[in-house]
Amino acid sequence: MDQVRPAAPQLQGVEPYDPKYIPADVMISANENPSDVPLEIRREIEHAVRKVKLNRYPDPLANDLRDMIAEANGLDRDQVLVGNGGDELLFDMALAWGGPGRKFLNVPPTFSVYAYNARILNTEVVEVPRRDDYSIDVDAVCDRLAQGDIDYAIFCSPNNPTGNLLTGAEIDRILKASDALVMVDEAYFEFSRSTVRPSLTRHENLIILRTFSKAFSLAGVRMGYLLGSERVLREFKKVRLPYSVDAVSQAVARVVYANRAQFETGIEQIIEQRARVIDGLGALQGVKVFPSSANYVLFRLPADIDAAQVWQRLLDAGVLVRDFSRTPSLENCLRVSIGSPEENTRFLTTLKGILT
Ligand code: PMP
Repeated sequence: MDQVRPAAPQLQGVEPYDPKYIPADVMISANENPSDVPLEIRREIEHAVRKVKLNRYPDPLANDLRDMIAEANGLDRDQVLVGNGGDELLFDMALAWGGPGRKFLNVPPTFSVYAYNARILNTEVVEVPRRDDYSIDVDAVCDRLAQGDIDYAIFCSPNNPTGNLLTGAEIDRILKASDALVMVDEAYFEFSRSTVRPSLTRHENLIILRTFSKAFSLAGVRMGYLLGSERVLREFKKVRLPYSVDAVSQAVARVVYANRAQFETGIEQIIEQRARVIDGLGALQGVKVFPSSANYVLFRLPADIDAAQVWQRLLDAGVLVRDFSRTPSLENCLRVSIGSPEENTRFLTTLKGILT
């Protein structure tokens, strides 16, 4: 045979997911932490990794780490599940609750991976668009859920890329409207100091996604976790890859989680720098800045300026941000991650130079 038959039909016309990660001097496009793990903690990590038996399979469920996360959140081990980054858990959700004949409710603009996963797994995507200020139209969401045919929904809070939050009262209304499985993606919650965790005790259909990639500087390691009911997480265990979280990542994450208080200063600095970046962008003629509770800021350039060209000129000057200007409802918008104070200065001065 010199030919291969086509892949599954739903993959036709799909472009592979591309995070547009291009090497640059100033990497402020992927919402990573600008600081690496502190040296002292890295030493502890080295010690812990040295003890890992590389010839043995890892603990499939990373029970030691689950216990630590469970204790910190006032939950039992069975109410926590870890994954190879939050990305794996998002995929597992789409596998376990989606599929042919099933429906996913999305509130765009939001993290594009949600709709991508649904699409490649042959799940129908039902959209309830956000309002102009990117807040969720809770009435419209509840009305749509009340029809009873939605299998799962995801709400990102703070929302990527718009930066705004979903309140506890809003999520309670949504959860009451349906028995669909509802995920609140709190990948950036440490920068907002706000969580829907209190709602978990009241609603079995809520799960919360978190990650070590942002506040804990571990994007390179791949570690995410879910908080939810034992019954729901049991379904995730049926679809997850048995050894998706390797022994080295487990060892690294245990040390980082045990030392998580040490990341507080870095988080504080990002929150302070966020205010500075928002002010700096707001001072530029015609630029609209959206409020943010995360470690990134979305902004819209004036209509007579092409955001894609500005993105390119920033990159030519060594500054990589994320271009959302071709995404529906994000026309002419760019997103900048909060970097170190020096990186933020360089971003603001370079952008000012381009726009004036
Ligand atoms: N959710 C959101 C909203 C994100 O932005 C990201 C990272 N880009 C993730 C989940 C997944 O993060 P990770 O796989 O690094 O844990």
